[in-house]
Amino acid sequence: MALSVTLWNEFRHEKNMDACKEIYPDGMHTAIAAYLEKHTDFRIRLASLDEPEHGLTQDVLDDTDVLTWWGHAAHHEVEDEIVERVHKRVLAGMGLIALHSSIHSKIFLKLMGTTCSLKWREAGEKERLWVVSPGHPIVDGIGECIEIEHTEMYGEHFDIPAPDELVLVSWFPGGEVFRSGCCFTRGAGKIFYFRPGHETFPIYYQEDVLKVITNAICWASPVDGPEFKRGNVEPLEPLSPAS
Ligand code: ZN
Repeated sequence: MALSVTLWNEFRHEKNMDACKEIYPDGMHTAIAAYLEKHTDFRIRLASLDEPEHGLTQDVLDDTDVLTWWGHAAHHEVEDEIVERVHKRVLAGMGLIALHSSIHSKIFLKLMGTTCSLKWREAGEKERLWVVSPGHPIVDGIGECIEIEHTEMYGEHFDIPAPDELVLVSWFPGGEVFRSGCCFTRGAGKIFYFRPGHETFPIYYQEDVLKVITNAICWASPVDGPEFKRGNVEPLEPLSPAS
């Protein structure tokens, strides 16, 4: 069956910041959705902060294989109860793709357990994201690197736990580097952090960026794995009596 993907967006800058509104009049999540609708058979759903329950009801989450998340200025407005709900679903196997400034979202911080702080600068710099895990499914169809002409800079040190797999590393002309494509596992859930997507540049119209997001959704989708029994158990083989 086709993957069920929910694209969650804070969806505030597109309403209150001219520089963002001009590029993404219908929201960054809609730009990503347009690509996915054209290139995949995913079942796509949009959700955003100002909807009841932020658009993430239990029914929506139960029907979501992979959730993408974009947040920036209103992380604190996301209700703890919804964060808890998303967290539970990730541990149970739902994939999560955290985009750009979502590093400081409640859900990402909870999953990482560190500050996720970093260096940053808004100077419209170029970025080159180098593939450092050739053969990884997330970079299927991507060349040696992705070039983004103008973006915000993020620099190390990025205070995250060591990723299970590091897929992309960014270079910036100001001298910084950054781990910009990172894979994590929490419980049965797979998490991919992907850095591109500053709100005042048209980055979610760029083919190779969208291709990585598409690949990441496929990679992070749940597998039909075992349901583990936990707690006190009987032995599988008869135990010899204690001597
Ligand atoms: Zn940004």
